[in-house]
Parts: sequence; structure tokens; C-alpha cells
Amino acid sequence: MSASTQGAGVRPFLIGATWTTGQGTPFESINPANGARNGLIGSASREDVDLAVRTAKAAQARPEWRAMLPHRRAAILHRIADLIEAHAEELAERQMRENGKLRAECVAQAAGGAAAYRYFASICETMPAEVAPSRGDHLSMVLYEPFGVVAAITPWNSPLTLESQKVAAALAAGNAVVLKPSEFTPTIALRVAELALEAGLPPGILNVVTGLGAETGSALVAHPDVRLISFTGGTATGKAIAREAAGRMAAVALELGGKSPHIVFADADLDKALQGVLHGVFSSSGQSCIAGTRLFVERGIHDAFVARLVQAAKALRVGPPDDARSQVAPLSSFVHRDKVEAMVDMAREDGAEVLAGGSRPADPALADGAYYLPTLIGGVTNDARICQQEVFGPVLCVMPFDNEEDLVAQANDSFFGLAAGVWTRDFPKAWRVARAVEAGTVWINTYKTLSVSVPFGGFKESGSGREKGFFGIRTYQEAKTVMVGL
Ligand code: NAD
Repeated sequence: MSASTQGAGVRPFLIGATWTTGQGTPFESINPANGARNGLIGSASREDVDLAVRTAKAAQARPEWRAMLPHRRAAILHRIADLIEAHAEELAERQMRENGKLRAECVAQAAGGAAAYRYFASICETMPAEVAPSRGDHLSMVLYEPFGVVAAITPWNSPLTLESQKVAAALAAGNAVVLKPSEFTPTIALRVAELALEAGLPPGILNVVTGLGAETGSALVAHPDVRLISFTGGTATGKAIAREAAGRMAAVALELGGKSPHIVFADADLDKALQGVLHGVFSSSGQSCIAGTRLFVERGIHDAFVARLVQAAKALRVGPPDDARSQVAPLSSFVHRDKVEAMVDMAREDGAEVLAGGSRPADPALADGAYYLPTLIGGVTNDARICQQEVFGPVLCVMPFDNEEDLVAQANDSFFGLAAGVWTRDFPKAWRVARAVEAGTVWINTYKTLSVSVPFGGFKESGSGREKGFFGIRTYQEAKTVMVGL
């Protein structure tokens, strides 16, 4: 491995086999749990991005990776998984320092990242091409080809899993990748890319450029040699990327925001539902695209259920991510905490009632971190701004519903359509609601249960395309028909 343009004390990024601090202005990484500096990170300029894409294009054009036999490609992906597992603690620690997530969750996500590489390794090795029914004297085949250069752009909330599920699938399909991680969580991707080189991935097949969205990200999206942009992040950014990509007909896969309805019928197991609702919105401090942030409770049990919820939310232990007793960690950055705070103030101005939380914790030991209390908001209807806009923090809006029809209308009255949860003992009712709700994932009597083996993505403004599952590899492939005259 070689290095160029090494700025002193600046974390370099990876183009081909070269670590470089680039020509952009380095930026700070800050630990949101205590405000400590993690370090200075190199920033990729437009020229650096151009070099990364050209390097990826050249590497993908060589047969080394593109034409590697599938079982050999799979073996390299398995080796990357082995190395992620071997470095799970270190990677988890890195993520915890950068986005403030609970250590236990970070460790679980490192395992999830490795699992994504194994899953797509197995698909790579076993994926069939198709022979379509012939409508004449010919053989009709459908083959699946890589796009070439894939740009992967990711958010800060779960880089260990989100980056792996994109990169593993794109590599399994035979593409080269230029990954731009969030500026708030820049170094997980850098470390995984280093491990990938160690695992035998040919240089240039995975490149990582760090930097800000408006500079490094937009330069990557605008690059003419990027054929697919796989983006996870906010809906406004996703729309801007889709507009840019449309100009040159580059493909996009967009995993965007959510405002997911979480539904509790009177006949549910209310103890389990209560735990599901709490976990659904307050785990990861609510910084989850699938967080169940609009709670609909059947009117007959609404007041009693909400009273229990208020008590339970107030009892959650807010604390540092490296303390095993903590249940709710800080938000991922100070700027994000301020945004969440402003949105709760907006709800107050709109006449909402704050039933729990609604402020920073009073504990002086947490004063230096980006903490915000688990917050419950009542006295709102579904058309309130706080019920329609994504907060991406520990904020739950609580509303009653009268019957199934009223419920489905309210649940679907949202620009988003990422996920939903239903709690009831009446399975036919759960089934009807699951089919009627416009969401990419619906949970019945569970919430936030995730698996790499099923497709994930959103309806409406929550995105387009799917990741994960067998379907997930198709996102990174172009179908090609080959007809042979007989
Ligand atoms: P964001 O849209 O601000 O940023 C996401 C990424 O895009 C970052 O790497 C950022 O640097 C980059 N970016 C920003 N502007 C860009 C531009 N103009 N061109 C190219 N790249 C640009 O989102 P965020 O704040 O990092 O993440 C939170 C959002 O992500 C929430 O809306 C959340 O719902 C969503 N999210 C969705 C999923 C999903 O799978 N649907 C998963 C996690 C997070």
C-alpha cells in the first residue's frame, strides 16, 4: 500500500491502493457522548472523486474481479466477513465514538455487517441465470451483468450494517464501488476497506472517499462514469440525487426517510405491545429510518396504555453509550440534537402536549454530550407537522383511533411508507391491516425485527428499489437478454 499527500494528523481515504488526505479541507469528527475530538478527516475534492471513479472504472474493466469465477469471488467476500468478525470490537468502538450508539448495539451491528458479506457471498456462488420459455426456434436467456461503477452514499445512523449491505451486494454482483460515508461517521468504511484489501479484494474495486455531502457527495453523484447511485439518507437529499441522475439516465436505488405507524389494538398482548412500542421508537435514540414514530392506540384503551407508556418512557435510563446500564444513548451529533429540540418546540407552538421528556436531561454528568430525553407527544392529530415530518430522534406522537377503516386512513396519511407495526391477537385483522398499510415492511406482534434475507425498502417518498434479500443483488445488476438462433 502506498500513500500520497499525507496531511499531518489527517485520516486519509482510499483510492485504489493509495491512502490520500486529498485536496479538500479536512473536517473534524466529534464524539457526541462528550464533545471530545475523534480527529481530523481528509476531504475528497471534485478532482479526488474523479480519480476515485476513474480508478474504480479501470479496475472493474479488468477481468480480475468482473470475470472472477463466482466461488472465488464468494471466497473473498467470506474473508472480508471473517476479518470484520475478527475486528468486531474495534469496529464497534469506532462507530460508538462517532455516532454515540450503545456499545451493545454497535457490537451487534458489526456482526450484522459480516452477515451481509456472507449472505451475498452465498448468492454470488449460487445465483442462477435464466432460460426463458422460447417463443420460436431460438434459445432465450436472461443474464445479470454488473453496472460497472456504483456510487454508495450512506448516513450516520448505522454505518456498520448499512454500508455492508450495499457494498457486499454491489461487489457480489461484480461491480466496483466508490463509497462516500457520512461525514459524521467517516472511519468505519475506511477500516472495512482496509480489511477488504487484506482479504484479497483487488485494489480499485472498493474505494472510499470521505467528505461533506455538498462537496464530495455531489461530485460523486454528478460523475458521468457512475452508472448506479445507491443512496441511503434523507428524502430531500434522495430527491436531489434522483434529479441529477435522471439527467444522464444513471440508475438510482434510494432508501429514504420514514414516519412509521405503530398500531395497538385493544385485543393485543398489551405488555408485549408496550415493550415493542418503546423499543420501536427509543432504541438507537429514535435515529432509525424505521422507528415507529406515530403511535395509534384503539380508543378504548388509549388513556390507560398511554399512561403506562409515559411511566415507562420516564423510567428509561439515558446515559453514556459505553455504560452497559444505559438504555438511551446521545444523539449522533450536537447539530442533530439541536434539530430534534427545535422540532419538539415546533410541536409545542402548534399546541401539542408534551407528556414525557421534551428537554435535555438535567443530569450534569451528561451536560457535555448531545443527549435528549425520550419524548412523548399527545394532543395532536395526524396532520400536525410533528406527525408528518421526520424527526429522527426519540420522539413519539400518540393518537387514538376508532376502527380499522379510520386507522388505515390515518396510517396511510403520510408522504412516507417505510415500515409499520400492528399489535393484535386477531390474526385476520392483523393480516388485513398489514395488506392495507402502504409500507415496505410490516411487523405483526413484533417491531424492528430485521434480516438480511428479506428485501428492505420504502413505498412512496421513503424510496425506490430494494436492498437485502435475494432481490438485493438484482438492485446492483442489469438484466441482459441473449437470444441464440437454433
Ligand atoms: P443525509 O441525506 O443528510 O445524508 C446522507 C448522506 O448523503 C451523507 O453521506 C451525506 O454526506 C450525503 N449527502 C448530503 N447531501 C448530498 C448531496 N447533495 N449529494 C450527494 N450526497 C449528499 O441524511 P443523514 O442525516 O445522514 O441520515 C438521516 C436520514 O437517513 C434520515 O432521513 C433517515 O430516515 C434516513 N435513513 C434511511 C434508511 C433507509 O434504509 N430507508 C436508513 C437509515 C437512514
